Order: sequence, then C-alpha cells, then structure tokens
Amino acid sequence: MIAEHEAVDVLKSTQVVIEQALRKLGYGDEMIELLKEPMRMMTVRIPIRMDSGETQVFTGFRAQHNDAVGPTKGGVRFHPEVNADEVKALSIWMSLKCGIADLPYGGGKGGIICDPRGMSFRELERLSRGYVRAISQLVGPTKDIPAPDVMTNSQIMAWMLDEYSRIREFDSPGFITGKPLVLGGSRGRETATARGVAIMIHEALRTRGVALHDARVIIQGFGNAGSFLAKFMHEAGASVVGISDVHGALYNEEGLDIEHLLDRRDSFGAVTNLFTSTISNAELLEKPCDVLVPAATQNQITAENAPRIQAGIVVEAANGPTTLEATEILTKRGVLIVPDVLASSGGVIVSYFEWVQNNQGYYWSEAEVDHKLREMMIAGYQQVYELHLSRAVDMRLAAYMTGVRRLAEAVRYRGWV
Ligand code: NAD
Repeated sequence: MIAEHEAVDVLKSTQVVIEQALRKLGYGDEMIELLKEPMRMMTVRIPIRMDSGETQVFTGFRAQHNDAVGPTKGGVRFHPEVNADEVKALSIWMSLKCGIADLPYGGGKGGIICDPRGMSFRELERLSRGYVRAISQLVGPTKDIPAPDVMTNSQIMAWMLDEYSRIREFDSPGFITGKPLVLGGSRGRETATARGVAIMIHEALRTRGVALHDARVIIQGFGNAGSFLAKFMHEAGASVVGISDVHGALYNEEGLDIEHLLDRRDSFGAVTNLFTSTISNAELLEKPCDVLVPAATQNQITAENAPRIQAGIVVEAANGPTTLEATEILTKRGVLIVPDVLASSGGVIVSYFEWVQNNQGYYWSEAEVDHKLREMMIAGYQQVYELHLSRAVDMRLAAYMTGVRRLAEAVRYRGWV
C-alpha cells in the first residue's frame, strides 16, 4: 500500500502525465485544471460497534474523477494506509482505464482506513454496511459503481449490495460489481485481471516477434493477479522462471513447478516462506527473462534498478510499479512497456460486463466473457501502440493520451470547458 508521502508523489506524477497528455492532444490550462483532480471527493466518518462493545470511528473516502462520459466506476480498498491523495490518484487511473477500453464510465475509487486482517467477520460486515450508508446518496448504478479492490472481496460486495438495496430498493442490481455469482456476479470476473495481463503479454510478444513457447516470464507477486497469471502463462506453454511474494522470490532458469506452487500458496499469496533457497524481490527483478510482470505493489522499478533490468518487455499488472524516471530509462534502452492503465484493465472491463448483464437480466457464458474481454484488450493495445509510434511518445504517455482523449472530448461537447 502507498505510504502518505508516496501517495502524494503518485498523485503528482499522475498529474504530470495527465498534463503532458492533454497538451499533446492540444488542450489548454482549463482542461488540465479540471481533469487533474477528481470533481468530487467525499470523506466520511463511520461509527462501528466492535465485538468488544466499544464504538470505533473509521474514516472512509470516495473519489469521483469525472462523469462527463457516464457514471464513475472503481474499487473500494480496505487498508491501514489508505489516504485521500492515493484515492484521488487511483480515481484518475480508473478514468484512464475506462477511456482506453472505451467503457461508458469515468473513474472512481474508494477506501477505508482499517486493517481487515485484525477484524472479525461481523465487524467487517458492519463496516461494509456503514460505508454504504455513509456514501449512499452519491453512488448508484447510474451515478457511481463500486467494486472490490485491495483486501475487499465478493463477500464484502454482497454486504454492500444488501445494505444499498435496503436504502434504495428499486435500483440495486447494478449498484456494485465483483458480486458472488448467485447475487448477479459475472462469470470470469475473478480471473479477469490476470486474463487481461496474459492477453497483453501475447500482444507484446507478437510485437517483438518472440514465440510464446520461447518466452521466459518473471512475475513479482503471487496474489490474485500474479498467481492466476502464472497459471495462464504456464498453461499456454511459456516458461515461468521466477515468482515472488512479500517474503522473497524463487528463480529457476529451467522453469518453476507452477502447479506445485499454486497448490501450496496461502490465501494472502504467500508461498516462498516454504522454501530455503530464495532470493530477494530486488534480485528477482534483475534476473534474465523476456517478460517481467510486476504484479505486487507500486514503485518497484526505479531509476536505481532500471538500468539493470534484463527483460525486453515489462507488462504492469500492479498499479504504479514503475516510476516516471524508470519509464524513461527503460524506453531509451528499447524495453517495451505495457503500462498499468492498459495492462491491468481486465478487471474493470469484466466489471462493466457484470453491470451490463445486471441491467439486461441476461447472463453470459465464461467463453463469451473471455472472448469480449480479449477483443477489448487487443483494441486498447493497438490504439496505444499505434499512438506510441505515430506521435513518437513513450507507451505510458500514449496510454494516458488514449485514456484521457474521450473524456476531454466529452467535457468539451458538454461545454464545461
Ligand atoms: P494480492 O493482495 O492478492 O497479492 C499481492 C501479492 O504481492 C502477494 O503475493 C504478496 O505477498 C505480494 N507482495 C506484497 N507486497 C510485496 C512486496 N513489497 N514485494 C513483493 N511482493 C509483495 O493483490 P492482487 O489483487 O494480486 O494485486 C496486485 C497488484 O495488482 C496491486 O498493485 C493491485 O492494485 C493490482 N491490480 C489488481 C487487480 C485485481 O483484480 N486483483 C486489478 C487491477 C490492478
């Protein structure tokens, strides 16, 4: 999670690239002033009766970046270090993801400062319901649609849905996504982010003319995104030579036994603690491979280690794993970066499918979800890659330009700027 000073940096660096993107697209100061911050930022205080009988007051946030295109959309994270600037930056990233995938949404994001690992099931339920009561007037299926994020899951979405449908009984089905299947969730939602990243790896390898069977892949992080990705890469015939978790990393140039690792990992994505011969996360990033996938946390590839990264392709499954300085160094060295706002958009794309299915009351097969996800991700990649070539900008700036273009156009048509 992002500590306070890093969060301000994440917001600032997001604003730097938003400004560059809008200037490249020919927009001036007014548009930049509007889009560099969320249009609405709510801070709520949530009193919760704990199991001990005492009341604890939690702080929560909901940021709505911009609704010129449609309702805002984005996850809610539960974490002790959530803070306002982080939530703001994440809401802007959601706008970019939705823009690249051409979803009829702007970006949103929410969070509660709490540590779910130290809370009981019932305390978590009361907190989830309390958050929905606090924000219920400003969210809804046509206004702002939450989803799971760090340390929130389909059970928490189910409690939030239930609370919302008590407050607003007629417009609840598409209020939230990432729900359990029996409450209107979509098939393929749980694996959507990893599927999307896998599709991006295929496309990047194709661009570089490397066959999947010859590709050596390193994945930092073995949680929801990283472990499913390792499975998909292994099944597709690539060689997963390195993985890591918060404790350390495993590397074997002959390829790791992914099925064994998947079998042994715990629910927080830890597995390397079961091994004696591990290396550090920092060492893993610099090992030989064709594709490096940071799928753990932010600021992992920096100006310090970027010159030593050996991968020819970096596909960002995590949010913000590469600093702007590192992006410049890698780009100059000829490394192809598939940036986070493109690579990790599979989750929000399938969330969009869930909302569409809820609105239709008609549910799709997993094959249909996967097929549509593939089409959208590939279209996004092609747009970003072509812009990168035609405007001679790095892949991150190309992704920001693609992501913000439709939003800025909608703002202009509406006459806001
Ligand atoms: P997760 O909590 O399930 O797993 C995180 C993994 O990273 C675990 O294996 C953990 O041990 C490891 N880890 C944590 N801190 C680390 C560190 N400092 N160094 C190395 N490893 C570390 O999380 P997730 O859902 O897989 O998400 C991973 C990243 O992908 C996050 O940046 C998240 O924002 C991003 N992301 C996830 C989704 C999704 O749908 N899961 C969607 C978009 C973006």
